[in-house]
Amino acid sequence: MPDIASNIKDLKKNIPPSVTVIAVSKTKPVSDILKAYETGHRDFGENRVQELLSKKDLLPPDIRWHLIGHLQTNKVKFIAPFINLIHSVDSFRLLKSIDNEAVKIERVIRCLLQFHIAEEETKFGFSLPEAIDMLKSEGFSALHNVQICGVMGMATFIDNDDQVRTEFRKLKQYFLRLKADFFSGQDSFREISMGMSGDYKTAIEEGSTMIRTGSVIFGSRI
Ligand SMILES: *Cc1c(COP(=O)(O)O)cnc(C)c1O
Repeated sequence: MPDIASNIKDLKKNIPPSVTVIAVSKTKPVSDILKAYETGHRDFGENRVQELLSKKDLLPPDIRWHLIGHLQTNKVKFIAPFINLIHSVDSFRLLKSIDNEAVKIERVIRCLLQFHIAEEETKFGFSLPEAIDMLKSEGFSALHNVQICGVMGMATFIDNDDQVRTEFRKLKQYFLRLKADFFSGQDSFREISMGMSGDYKTAIEEGSTMIRTGSVIFGSRI
């Protein structure tokens, strides 16, 4: 049995206080989430909407929920009322439907743009030119109920620190480019969500502001 409370305390002790830990609780029971919650931790991440909704209702209302996995447009309405940050915005179509739902409930929903930085074909995300085209578009200017707070990416799942580091460095460069060209002077554009249990140390060295860690806190998933 992993000692969840010690794991999360040790993790936070060993990283800079400016880095936000998102405790990724996917596949783990509510009782495990509560063990982390009782240490004072409040930021939790799930990658599936159904799972997030079923757990949320059983847990304290002051948890800040992060959606970190691919989001289908028809599921946006279920999380719009409460989600703290959507890390996985990977198309204009999705951003537009988030804005739509946000308008209905008079909220501004915080989002990150997910970039494809890994070698694997299967991972979702914008390329830099795609994101730039979107940010320049009239369609994007018409959205007023989403706030773009930064970028997110997943490195290749590989035991090669040089490659992972290169990919994180690329995401940091994308962040700086977008900041300079589209969000200069906007303090809210400040997050770089990168790093998981296997690569968060490298990610922090390369400028991560949010790590998404599951197994290092809750133990491995079956
Ligand atoms: C599962 C998941 C994580 C956490 O993975 P660990 O290796 O358990 O830390 C982080 N980000 C995303 C998008 C995930 O789906």
